[in-house]
Amino acid sequence: MIRAVKGTRDILPPSSSVWNHVEAVARAVFRSYNYQEIRTPIFEETQLFLRGVGEETDIVTKEMYTFPDRGGESLTLRPENTASVIRAYIEHRLDQLPGLQKLYYIGPMFRRERPQKGRYRQFSQIGAEAIGSPSAMVDAEVIEMVAEVLTRCGLTGFSIDVNSVGCPACRPKFIEALRQRLESVAPQMCGDCQRRATTNPLRVLDCKVPEDQPIIDALPSIHEHLCADCAGHFELVKTLLSDRAIPYEVKPRLVRGLDYYTRTTFEFTHGALGAQNSILGGGRYDGLAEQLGSKVPAPGIGFSIGEDRLVMSIEETQPDTARPVLDLFLAPLGPAAVRHCAALAYDLRKKNTVVEVGADGRLKRVMETANKLAARYVLIVGENEMNAGAYALKDMASGEQTTVTREQLLARF
Ligand SMILES: [Zn+2]
Ligand SMILES: [Zn+2]
Repeated sequence: MIRAVKGTRDILPPSSSVWNHVEAVARAVFRSYNYQEIRTPIFEETQLFLRGVGEETDIVTKEMYTFPDRGGESLTLRPENTASVIRAYIEHRLDQLPGLQKLYYIGPMFRRERPQKGRYRQFSQIGAEAIGSPSAMVDAEVIEMVAEVLTRCGLTGFSIDVNSVGCPACRPKFIEALRQRLESVAPQMCGDCQRRATTNPLRVLDCKVPEDQPIIDALPSIHEHLCADCAGHFELVKTLLSDRAIPYEVKPRLVRGLDYYTRTTFEFTHGALGAQNSILGGGRYDGLAEQLGSKVPAPGIGFSIGEDRLVMSIEETQPDTARPVLDLFLAPLGPAAVRHCAALAYDLRKKNTVVEVGADGRLKRVMETANKLAARYVLIVGENEMNAGAYALKDMASGEQTTVTREQLLARF
C-alpha cells in the first residue's frame, strides 16, 4: 500500500469543512480591510529564500525542500510566503499603484521539520502583507485584523504579545550590549545559548530551557536602547490598540533574528495548544524589499497564521463548527421512483439545497441510511406518491411526517 509521505496528511471530511469555514471567515475579514488575494507559485528560485528568509536561519539551513531543476537551476518549495509576495511586489512594480498594497494569501508551505502533533512538512498558512507605509497606524490595523479573524473563527482566550525590535539605527547597540553581558553569563547557560551568544545573541532570548530563564530575564532589554523614532512608533502602536480595547502584553524578549525586521513584532498564543502554543507571528520588515534587490524602499508589515493549528484548536474547542448539513434525503421505492427522484434532486440542487438520492430499496433500510447520514429531512417517493403528486416528508429530528406537493417542496427547500 502506498501511504501519504511522512509529515504530510490528507484532510478528510468533515475536517475539510472546518478548513473551508476558517478560510471563508479569513477572506471576509480581509476584504473588509480592503485586502486582496495574491497567489504566488509554490516554488521559487532558492536564492529568494536564502536572501528573504535568511541564510543562517533553521528554516534555510535545515528545513527547506531544495532540488535541482532538470535545467540545473536550484529551486525550493516555499517555506513561507512573505519573500514571494515581496518578490512579486518588486517584479510587478506594485509600488507604482496608488495607495498601500494590502495582499493576503492562503496556501501550503513546506518545511522538513521533525513531525510532531500539529506540525506537518506540508502545512498551510493564512497570511497578509501591507506594503508601502511605515506608519504605526498600519501596524495596529494589522494586529486588529488578525484578532478579528481569530475571534470570528470562534477562538477565544488567545493572548497578544507585542514588542519593538528597533531599527538599523538602534538595534545594533542593543545587540552589542547583549553580547557584552553574555560574555560573562553565557558559560552558565545551555549549549545552544553558549553558541548563540557569539553567533546570534538575539536568539538567546528565544531559549526555553527553564534553568536559563532567570539569567535571560536579567539581560539588557531592547526598550533601554530604542531610538526616539522607534520608541515613539511603538508608543503609538500601543495607544492605537488601547483605543480599540484590544488587550496586549509587551514582551521585551519577543525579537526576530533577521536584520530586515524592524520595529513592531507580535505573536498570538493560545493555551489550548500546549507547548506549541504560538498560533501566529508577524511583524514589520522595512528592510526586506532592499534585501531582495528593490531600488525603492517598500516598508511593510505582515503575519501568517498556522492554519493547521488554528483548525485543530477550533475542532477541540468547538466540535460542531461548520458541520456539513444534508438537507434532504430522497428515498425512492421502486425503479420508476429512482428516475423520478433523480429529476427532483436536479431541480432542488439548482436552489443550492443539499440533496442526496438513496438507492432503491426497502423503506426500513433506506431510513437507516438517511439516519446515518444525519439527513434533516427524508422524502419518501413510491408509486402511490408519484401517482398522487404528493410525497411524505419526514422531519428526522422531530419524527413528524407531513404531505407535500412538488411545488411546496421546491418552495420550502
Ligand atoms: Zn530605532
Ligand atoms: Zn539556553
